[in-house]
Amino acid sequence: MKHRGFTLMELLIVIAIITLIAAMLMPVFAQAREKARQTVCASNLKQIGMAIAMYLQDYGHYVPMRLGNRIWMEVQPGREGLIDPYIRDDGVRRCPSRKIPEARYPINGWEGVFWGRTETSPQGQPDAAVPRPASTLIVWEHQISAEMCNIGQEGGTPTTPDPRAGVEHWDSAHHGGFVTLWCDGHVKRMQYAQLRRTMFTIEEDPE
Ligand SMILES: [Zn+2]
Ligand SMILES: [Zn+2]
Repeated sequence: MKHRGFTLMELLIVIAIITLIAAMLMPVFAQAREKARQTVCASNLKQIGMAIAMYLQDYGHYVPMRLGNRIWMEVQPGREGLIDPYIRDDGVRRCPSRKIPEARYPINGWEGVFWGRTETSPQGQPDAAVPRPASTLIVWEHQISAEMCNIGQEGGTPTTPDPRAGVEHWDSAHHGGFVTLWCDGHVKRMQYAQLRRTMFTIEEDPE
């Protein structure tokens, strides 16, 4: 039997099939990569939550947004953060999915008067002042470089998110969602439409 190599046609068909399979798998790989980044982000926030819990144990109150020259966590290089001693890995300060490299996790900085009533975020407050820790936000991810965030709170209601903030502020990098840390230490991926004003305040009965 005469041995023969591939004909040009056969080679072209093989190349076409390989290209097709690669094109089919590409989105799957991209999705897996993004899923892995979301896992890293959730783990970052989990570790930040543990650092806040240790700070809370040592000082009796939630880490404040600012204290003198220090901020709650070092988010700009060289500016010392209050929970820094409780953070082992510098990588936890940033979500790997942010399109703006300077974007950092901000602490809840909501402070204002809503319907004649003063509302405040948990930062700097004693443990006992947060009546609903499992449904009160403390840290999340957004798309700007700032140590705190108060965008998305003021105009929200118990049933709708703040319409002025817009979804682009969070840049929902994780399949249309962003990762959030709550006062009881749990971490959850949220979508903009799920945000409610009551999640940002420590008021006993914010409704
Ligand atoms: Zn993230
Ligand atoms: Zn923000």
